[in-house]
Amino acid sequence: MPFSKLDLSPQVLEGVRAAGYTDPTPIQLRAIPLILAGRDVIGSAQTGTGKTAPFALPLISRLGTHGTLRTLVLEPTRELAAQVETALRDYARFTNLRTAVVFGGTGYGKQDQSLRQGVDVLVATPGRLLDQMHRRMVRLDQIETLVLDEADRMLDMGFLPDVRKIIERCPRNRQTLLFSATIPPEIEQLSRWALRNPETIEI
Ligand code: AMP
Repeated sequence: MPFSKLDLSPQVLEGVRAAGYTDPTPIQLRAIPLILAGRDVIGSAQTGTGKTAPFALPLISRLGTHGTLRTLVLEPTRELAAQVETALRDYARFTNLRTAVVFGGTGYGKQDQSLRQGVDVLVATPGRLLDQMHRRMVRLDQIETLVLDEADRMLDMGFLPDVRKIIERCPRNRQTLLFSATIPPEIEQLSRWALRNPETIEI
């Protein structure tokens, strides 16, 4: 089945064609319609590749055109944050959507500049995001979709208290996607608190 049979926007389909993909993978076939429909999803996903496109494509499609900050993706490390933002930017290249990435261990200058331009999609590590919220550079009150990527790694790195604070600043009425290689009790508990009637898929 070709990508064109999925209900993705023409701009996203153009991005997919430009990336050289012909057919969706089985995971993409399963995940894309659920995410397009606004469902909460738990993806038990191995670390690393294979799960960016399944959430990036439908989320960009749902965003449509440039507006306000509506999609937040949390990542455990700066490398992952940078990598995921690059993929999102690539898939969105035929839209006028704006993406930005913020992570710690580096200066504020460039990150502030991209935030000031107004972004639709923000990819962030938890600590620096809280920093930027305290500095009033970011507000989450218009977030429509929250992605918790590599949730078990965020737990291992001690980020869950920060993640909870961030979730509390997002609107209750939102879509939440959680990806994790393993589902330890803490992540199970987090997903029960943060997700609504989730569909679980193996990625
Ligand atoms: P992902 O992590 O989902 O972005 O995908 C992992 C790798 O597979 C990336 O290098 C993508 O460019 C590539 N890829 C993703 N989806 C497809 C597809 N439907 N057909 C061919 N390659 C793909």
